[in-house]
Amino acid sequence: MSNDRLIDLRSDTVTKPDAAMREAMATAEVGDDVLDGDPTMRALEERAAQVLGMEAALWVPSGCMGNTIATALHLQRGDRFLAPRAAHVLDNELGAAAWLAGGMPEPLAWDAGPGRPSPAAVTAAAGTSGPYYRLRTRLLCLENTHNAAGGAVTPPEEYALLVAAAKEAGLKVHLDGARIWNAAAALAVKPAELTAGADSVQACLSKGLGAPVGSLLAGSRELIEEARRLRKMLGGGVRQGGVLAAAGMVALDRMDRLDEDHAAAKQLSAGLTDLGFTVRAPQTNIVLAQVPDLPFVLARLRASHVLASSMDGCARFVTHRDVSSTDITEALGRIAVSGCAPSS
Ligand SMILES: *Cc1c(COP(=O)(O)O)cnc(C)c1O
Repeated sequence: MSNDRLIDLRSDTVTKPDAAMREAMATAEVGDDVLDGDPTMRALEERAAQVLGMEAALWVPSGCMGNTIATALHLQRGDRFLAPRAAHVLDNELGAAAWLAGGMPEPLAWDAGPGRPSPAAVTAAAGTSGPYYRLRTRLLCLENTHNAAGGAVTPPEEYALLVAAAKEAGLKVHLDGARIWNAAAALAVKPAELTAGADSVQACLSKGLGAPVGSLLAGSRELIEEARRLRKMLGGGVRQGGVLAAAGMVALDRMDRLDEDHAAAKQLSAGLTDLGFTVRAPQTNIVLAQVPDLPFVLARLRASHVLASSMDGCARFVTHRDVSSTDITEALGRIAVSGCAPSS
């Protein structure tokens, strides 16, 4: 392997559609999805609803749009919503949940583990209905896996208690399941087992599953009907969307191989630990390494043609279908001689 070949571990969003996916896109049956429907879009949305265990689903161009539509449907202007600290809806969507959906964000501490608030924290933050001028709390946003917590998984029993606490306090629940596929693979359960009780779920096709574009928003038939209107308002109605939905169909066939990404993350984590890095043991496909000088480390890696990103103050490496276990071995070899490993 040539030493200048780039090993891109910045994110699983860098995955490129392979020949089989491009073939499916090229031969997709299409219609006008804004006018009166596209058959491949319809097939994907039906399948997505089933896979996610919800009544109905809607394809959206991005996870951000899916989360924005969901929060806008659950909140009225000025309503508070709760989300674990550093959740994507809080930190990485340009404040759309406030700007477009009108929500007042309230971050919850990770008092139950990485990326996970406790049910008691949800109850306490939801508060009680006070005098008429009191802020109303309407929504709990959960994230599984939790990106900034290093792809941390919330198991179904713990998730069920969080949903129960939210419902008890009169809150709706939105699940940001951008990487719900990874959570399901890590727990060896079906994705639908991780969505019970949620009023809406967002799941990405364009990350580990390898589609070039697209996310799914799922919920009740009624919610998805309203979501379709909002999607159009936000500029997310696409005409011959079947070309993109066909990629999504192939993506959904690929859930089973995410275990390979998780194994690659463990391999990388073990190698980085051997090189003296302080690494949080990965539960899925994200490896976070605590480093004293983040810009220096990222620059040394870049000089070695290994790309990483920064997240929650750590160097972040994400494994995905376009890097093999041989690539990880190669990356570790380059890092060892890059001058940024603590043991070097
Ligand atoms: C990537 C991501 C999103 C947003 O998806 P885009 O398609 O990039 O807009 C939302 N939530 C989480 C947790 C993510 O990791």
